[in-house]
Amino acid sequence: MTGIGSIKGSAQELRERQSADARQREGAKWILNPNEISGDYDASRMLETTLGGVRRKITNDDLAAFRHNARVAGQRFKGGINVRGVVDLSTNEDRKRARTQIRMAVAAASRPVSTGALEVRFITNASGLTKGAPNRYQPVVEFLDFSSVVADGSLTPQKAAVRLRQGGIRFNCDCDHHRYRLRYIATIGGYNAGRDEAGFPKITNPGLSGVACKHVLRVMAEIEGGSAVQMFLAKAVEKVRAGMTGRQYTSEKEAERQARKQDSRPMAANAQDTGDRDFDRARRALRRQSRATTTKPKRTANGSKRMQALGASPAARDKLMATTRDLGLTPEEAVAILQAAAKGKS
Ligand SMILES: [Zn+2]
Repeated sequence: MTGIGSIKGSAQELRERQSADARQREGAKWILNPNEISGDYDASRMLETTLGGVRRKITNDDLAAFRHNARVAGQRFKGGINVRGVVDLSTNEDRKRARTQIRMAVAAASRPVSTGALEVRFITNASGLTKGAPNRYQPVVEFLDFSSVVADGSLTPQKAAVRLRQGGIRFNCDCDHHRYRLRYIATIGGYNAGRDEAGFPKITNPGLSGVACKHVLRVMAEIEGGSAVQMFLAKAVEKVRAGMTGRQYTSEKEAERQARKQDSRPMAANAQDTGDRDFDRARRALRRQSRATTTKPKRTANGSKRMQALGASPAARDKLMATTRDLGLTPEEAVAILQAAAKGKS
């Protein structure tokens, strides 16, 4: 079993991991960039995708499907996301992992960020299932309404904390799942708190499903149900109202106390209510039915469909598609040209 380790040195550890991540990203060669998705893709790059379930070379139809998936994902998060939304929109699988593998989530530190948000750094244990992986992770959550609830004197610090956890958030996690599958979605969804990721996850998550990793989901449960996080947020509000900055750290002793308390709870997938209110609320938060879990992968995007409709027979359609590919056109561009040509004739 792994714990959350020492608070001391955790901030430095996260900074190092983030800069290693940024360095690796700079040197990455197989990224599918936004300009390529929008049609500027050179097929000689031979990039691959797993869209449809089999790993193969990317085609123009795939690019159209990626554009569609990105558009749908972007629309899904229009207006931002909050704690409840993160849980509701996550996949069942990710929530189950959060319930059964991540035993602890403790708020370690907070600081105000330039946007007026309060950034809270959490520490969770790692599942221990991946060999060689770090033994803990540090999801970061930005509470976007911080400066406005601080300024609203009609709210007690406790009420202000409730507002914070109901309001908009951005988040980030330093695990590979977030990095390779979810950060792109967070970036186009506008709720990414870390380094933006514009490279489409063509291999790891071309259907753009999911919202949050198990570490972030465990943190969301603790934000929604745990009284320790509630107190932590209320304290940040109090501090700023008293003329301080909102910067605070959980002591080593207090973090250990919270971690130990959480660790003593049953973790089975079917664990019933225990009478421990924090725990029961947090578990319930992760069990609630989700509204949506994935972006419906659309195999044939609009352009291809319309183009297929233009071909009189299946053979003609295939020829049309092949010609379009040879010319380096997207299906949308081909349709536009054909339609313009048809109009010119009449
Ligand atoms: Zn994570």
